[in-house]
Amino acid sequence: MTAAWTEHPATSLRWRPGDRLDALDTRSTPGYTGRKRAAKVLRAGHADDLSDLQERLFAHGRTGGVRSVLLILQGMDTSGKGGIVRHVVGMVDPQGVRCRGFGRPTPEEQAHDFLWRIRRALPSPGLLGVFDRSHYEDVLVVRVEELQPEASWRAHYDEINAFEAEIAAAGTEIVKVMLAISPEEQLERLVSRLDRPEKHWRYDPADLRARERWGEYQAAYQEMLDRTSTDVAPWYVVPADRKWFARLAVSELLRHTLRGLDLRWPAADFDVERQRRLLTGG
Ligand code: ATP
Repeated sequence: MTAAWTEHPATSLRWRPGDRLDALDTRSTPGYTGRKRAAKVLRAGHADDLSDLQERLFAHGRTGGVRSVLLILQGMDTSGKGGIVRHVVGMVDPQGVRCRGFGRPTPEEQAHDFLWRIRRALPSPGLLGVFDRSHYEDVLVVRVEELQPEASWRAHYDEINAFEAEIAAAGTEIVKVMLAISPEEQLERLVSRLDRPEKHWRYDPADLRARERWGEYQAAYQEMLDRTSTDVAPWYVVPADRKWFARLAVSELLRHTLRGLDLRWPAADFDVERQRRLLTGG
């Protein structure tokens, strides 16, 4: 921790029972007193540490360890999920990362239960898995768009908690991040996509539908946070109107999680000195 942080984001951003999403200031920077420039420098300074920690995880997986990390990203369109993948996850060796986005289920996926496609995408031991959207869509878009009867999506909260407890017990450390933006900030980001021809491919007219139902989505997010933030898989709600803060906060959360695994470099299973002599002819 540096002086600019007054409270670690693992504490200040962790969702607590009774928290209200509608009371969150999405432009705020909880626990951080620095400015944008300093935040960028601070995040860049995490690169070596993050790389080292991720390589320990990878080495652990290669030597029979069972631990892995799963970063789940949720948020409204333009909330910056892709930017987290590029600017935070992008700081570590891509060979140790498995990124997966979840869109509308394919006919094959629809033929199975909602966790089927999720199970198939879980990180193997030693890997950092990243989900850009996830099984939480099944209590968000599915609820708001009434894609399933209420009894069906309501059952998902318990199913998700049981699923996450199961994978946590098997060795996966789960970090869930909701990037919270305001409708005003989203409007600005959507307009700026229209203003820039090189961003038109990222603009989907269908996204306006979710925007029109902002209040319903917020209610769905509120209940998701209330029902599924558990000790083994807590939610962190990151104010994300300032991209630089969201990226800094998530890089701290990731570092905190990897460090918490407390992984040592695997010991050599050969005689190091003998190998040195063989190599150098000494
Ligand atoms: P993003 O909007 O996340 O940047 P994108 O625009 O590239 O991604 P896709 O990844 O193809 O779009 O799909 C995202 C869309 O799929 C979102 O609108 C999301 O709500 C929807 N989606 C995801 N999971 C489900 C689900 N289980 N049922 C219905 N729709 C879903």
